[in-house]
Amino acid sequence: MLNRKALEDAARCNKIYDCDECAMKKNPHDCLEILAEYALAYWDMLERLEWICVGESGEGEDVIICPDCQNEQKEGHKPDCALAAINKAGDKEL
Ligand SMILES: [Zn+2]
Repeated sequence: MLNRKALEDAARCNKIYDCDECAMKKNPHDCLEILAEYALAYWDMLERLEWICVGESGEGEDVIICPDCQNEQKEGHKPDCALAAINKAGDKEL
């Protein structure tokens, strides 16, 4: 698992002149592959978390809600839901 320091160093990779200073400590080709695998794992996790929370409907019943925008699953996400935006971005074709 990569820690926050490794991800922060990778995010400013072009500003690091010596890979020995980077918490990733991999050659550039390995870094890209590791970061891509890490991003895909995060994406998979976010998709699994999309409709995992339980909230209460206006009638007092338990309903499935989004952990970010708190909307009920049957209503879909609010337009500004960050979790929905991330998950939708994963489905877009390049
Ligand atoms: Zn949402």
